Amino acid sequence: MRSYRKTFTFNIPSRRGFLNITPMVEECVKDSGIREGLCLVSPMHITASVFINDDEPGLLHDFEAFLEGLVPHEPLSNYQHNRTGEDNGDAHIKRQVMGREVVVAITNGKLDFGPWEQIFYGEFDGRRPKRVLVKLIGE
Ligand code: ZN
Repeated sequence: MRSYRKTFTFNIPSRRGFLNITPMVEECVKDSGIREGLCLVSPMHITASVFINDDEPGLLHDFEAFLEGLVPHEPLSNYQHNRTGEDNGDAHIKRQVMGREVVVAITNGKLDFGPWEQIFYGEFDGRRPKRVLVKLIGE
């Protein structure tokens, strides 16, 4: 069995944002030489998500509006977590809602997606460098 590991660092200039990272993951699959296997993509931080959905600007706006409606960033006093002196209580919860990681099958050397599936990095407490792990296993 072959394995491959790579990390990417993202520095989203705003507090929240979504980034389509599919081309980077596709490059990893190509570099790995793995034809049949599994590909895990996960953020290495607890205020960010990796998820799969459609790359459609209206939908990404809807995710942002939904999350901010559910767990608004302010008032900061809404969150006991912020008593630690941090201000990212909302970001931890947004990450739980959007999920931690994705696993995609690799078939014939390619990510075996359904229609319109794309891999996104979801940032909920940005403006600092954060890493995403890509790990592949297979042969
Ligand atoms: Zn925190």
